[in-house]
Amino acid sequence: MCPYCGFDESNVLESRVSQEGRSTRRRRECVTCKKRFTTYERVENVELKVRKRDGSVEDYSRDKLIRCIDHACWKLSPEERLKIVDELEMKLLNLDGIEVPSMDIGVMVMDKLKNIDPVAYIRFATVYKKIGSVEEFENLVKDYLRRKEPAHTANARLQKREPKLSAKVRKKGTKHGPARKKL
Ligand SMILES: [Zn+2]
Repeated sequence: MCPYCGFDESNVLESRVSQEGRSTRRRRECVTCKKRFTTYERVENVELKVRKRDGSVEDYSRDKLIRCIDHACWKLSPEERLKIVDELEMKLLNLDGIEVPSMDIGVMVMDKLKNIDPVAYIRFATVYKKIGSVEEFENLVKDYLRRKEPAHTANARLQKREPKLSAKVRKKGTKHGPARKKL
């Protein structure tokens, strides 16, 4: 089904079996709106199951993943959102097991959003981690910013200490002069 207009028929432009050989990637073009999208189909028709937090198991739903990404990343264009969905789904379809905990999917989504859309990441993580207080929210943002700090600023801080050390050494040298006079 076309993710843009919902029409059922599409033409396959390109088919490729994924590296791991467990799914087939198909580039399709909608017959009606002519927009292009990608589908992944499991080889052997093995259905992917999702184990939820309460222990119940349900069929993996691409629509649910789309809704989740649409909701978190409303700032991004439909094409960008669909690209995220495709990449996440490709990962899911190539997992070893046929059953994946919903929590693992949540972590996957967070890792993905962290680099692409920080605001969406914070929004998603707030819901996912069931954050209920301002303090918890503050810690989440702080954690994110801390991890984001580029390595070179940390290095610059370390380098600043060195001149201070050498200045101390110089001071010790001048103290040596007056000490001698006493003898
Ligand atoms: Zn369409």
